[in-house]
Amino acid sequence: MGERIPHWLDKQADLNPDRLAIETADGRRLSFAQLRNKSRGMAHALIEEGVQQGDHVALLSNNHPLFPIFIHAISYIGATAILINTRLTPEEISYQLNDAQVSHFYVEKTCYPKALETVENMNIPVKTVEGLNLDKTGSSDLQTELHMDDVYTMMYTSGTTGNPKAVMHTYGNHWHSAIASALNLGFQQEDKWLICLPLFHVGGFSVLMKSVIYGMPTLLLEKFDVTLVHRSIMDKGITHVSVVTVMLQRLLEELGDQTYPDYFRCMLLGGGPVPENLLQETAARKIPVFQTYGMTETSSQVATLSPESAFTKLGSAGKALSTAQLHIDSEKNGEIGEIVVQGPMVSKGYYNRPAREEAALWTGDLGYKDEDGFLYVVDRVNDVIISGGENIYPAEVESVLSALPGIREAGVTGCYDQQWGEVPEAYLVKEKGADLTEEKVMEWCEERLAKFKWPVNIYWVDELPRNASNKILRRRLPFLFESRDTKWK
Ligand code: ATP
Ligand code: MG
Repeated sequence: MGERIPHWLDKQADLNPDRLAIETADGRRLSFAQLRNKSRGMAHALIEEGVQQGDHVALLSNNHPLFPIFIHAISYIGATAILINTRLTPEEISYQLNDAQVSHFYVEKTCYPKALETVENMNIPVKTVEGLNLDKTGSSDLQTELHMDDVYTMMYTSGTTGNPKAVMHTYGNHWHSAIASALNLGFQQEDKWLICLPLFHVGGFSVLMKSVIYGMPTLLLEKFDVTLVHRSIMDKGITHVSVVTVMLQRLLEELGDQTYPDYFRCMLLGGGPVPENLLQETAARKIPVFQTYGMTETSSQVATLSPESAFTKLGSAGKALSTAQLHIDSEKNGEIGEIVVQGPMVSKGYYNRPAREEAALWTGDLGYKDEDGFLYVVDRVNDVIISGGENIYPAEVESVLSALPGIREAGVTGCYDQQWGEVPEAYLVKEKGADLTEEKVMEWCEERLAKFKWPVNIYWVDELPRNASNKILRRRLPFLFESRDTKWK
């Protein structure tokens, strides 16, 4: 059996009982001692409802204050939490409940109607987390230690490239992710992390893990509300926040010509490609943006770039964290190839799928390292457009297009071409009232991209197809115009 450590929440309740663990926007506050007591109370209530060690217990909840209590309760029982994206449809949720062999299904009250629809033809009772008594006592023994090799959570990947896969995270994976991040960003007594990413994704969830492992206060927001996030950074003592690209764009608009407080030291940016003009703007305005690379499988970030290098290494996701290894599977140094990662934060595999034989994980992402070893993420292996033998990376073309004033978002994919095999085409969403024409777009591309990368077709659309994680589904772009008489890949 692998290593064991004292239960991390018991530890914080012992070391820092009165320190703030979680604060919410409406001013509710829980210290580590209170969080421990309520989590243990909920654990007893769950046991009374039949949850046992080793059970698969699903949670369908937004960033509700009961979410952290629930996940700690699960660890006191030694069960596994399956965290479900609340934006999924009932069909998508029922696929995940089946796939993960869930035996108990808990939901936040607001998700109850959707949950009922989900289980219509299933034999899983739905219960609300609000219905659990947090002051419950009981005679069952709760876990006092955590086994690093036990599977604690399962989260589904976003399903950008196909069906979502259930990533198994052990306590050890979460522990090592938090420690590697602290070794990289440092940890100070006054740190306070704002959570505006969903907790059912690893980006949000990992902050709860950092909180309990470091003994760090968090401000938990129900969702990303730009005004609230902005105001919280300005006057709630926030030192860190994790965001994705669209959030950063909106925060910059909200910031206007103000500056963030000096103690605000980290805007952790990840989850997808970032347009270069946005990075230029944040670097010029000295906003402490740390660009990161990671995925559900790596329990959040695995490589990070510090703001000091943001100007000299614009667009890079930095270097692998202390305990991680990252190499590029390519013939020659400096060439683009698949990114391969390894380390104690990398999940051992997907539930219900054949185990990975090697320790290293082939990520399905393409990237390269520059002469100083800095990682540049290029695109997904499956999305590369091969045109007359040349590789075109949609993310590069999208980045150029979205830098054109008046364009709100851009999606690029390949379409069949008799001469070249495939050629790129662009799906564009305009800013309201923008005066843009196809000619202007082409002019912009001609000045900035090699000819073989110019989109051959430009389509104006109202919005781009996105999945429940808000990621662009490039494979769905052609279906915006299903009726066209063209052969798609
Ligand atoms: P699925 O695996 O189901 O297709 P997904 O890969 O989108 O979905 P996530 O685990 O949420 O699911 O996302 C991780 C992916 O996000 C990475 O593999 C990578 O493609 C992309 N990504 C993360 N960080 C960056 C970054 N800094 N630059 C570019 N892409 C990134
Ligand atoms: Mg993936």
